[in-house]
Amino acid sequence: MDGWDWTDVRDARVRAAIGRVPRHLFVPEEARARAYEDEPLPIGFGQTISQPHVVAIMTEWMELKGGEKVLEVGTGSGYQAAVLAELGAEVFSIEIVPELAERAGASLAAAGYGSVRIRVGNGWDGWPEEAPFDAVVVTAAPRDVPSPLVDQLKEGGRLVAPIGDLSKQELVRFTRTGGGLRRETVTPVRFVPFQREKTEKDYS
Ligand code: SAH
Repeated sequence: MDGWDWTDVRDARVRAAIGRVPRHLFVPEEARARAYEDEPLPIGFGQTISQPHVVAIMTEWMELKGGEKVLEVGTGSGYQAAVLAELGAEVFSIEIVPELAERAGASLAAAGYGSVRIRVGNGWDGWPEEAPFDAVVVTAAPRDVPSPLVDQLKEGGRLVAPIGDLSKQELVRFTRTGGGLRRETVTPVRFVPFQREKTEKDYS
């Protein structure tokens, strides 16, 4: 199943993990024939399973060695969560559409990743009871980085997220460093919009 040959994904562990995750278990029945094409595919509710190449890039920028505590916002199909679990991370994932959360839980269990914890809700608030995290990945695009997610990063922790609107989005990595936040732009991307984004008003 090593059909994807990406020269820009250098981490062999990430490439191997992607090769081991049975992606057909994360797409709807009618899309199974296309499960191993390097494309996003519809999963219902106007959402998509991410393109494997993009999952690989996001995962590589999280710099996981195994054993990290990781938060994903936007469970969707459960595919990205499976890749993180395959890399040995302890995975917590939040999904706003209850039906998708339920289906992702079943897919993850069927694929052997039953240890992934899923919660239904607005991922803007993160998962405070399980914080802090070594890494956070956001798979829907907010206009601005959700501040609770930054607050839930460990010192040295990485947050990888598409930031922007439908006309322009960039994949950005934020790294929490001694009191500050380093911001690196990775590459242009195209993700579904983040639902129910919060602003300053929501906190006052
Ligand atoms: N990681 C997924 C990609 C799913 S697409 C995969 O590998 O398949 C993005 C997902 O983010 C959608 O399922 C969408 O419902 C979810 N989403 C959007 N806004 C959200 C929010 N505020 N909180 C949690 N999930 C959200």
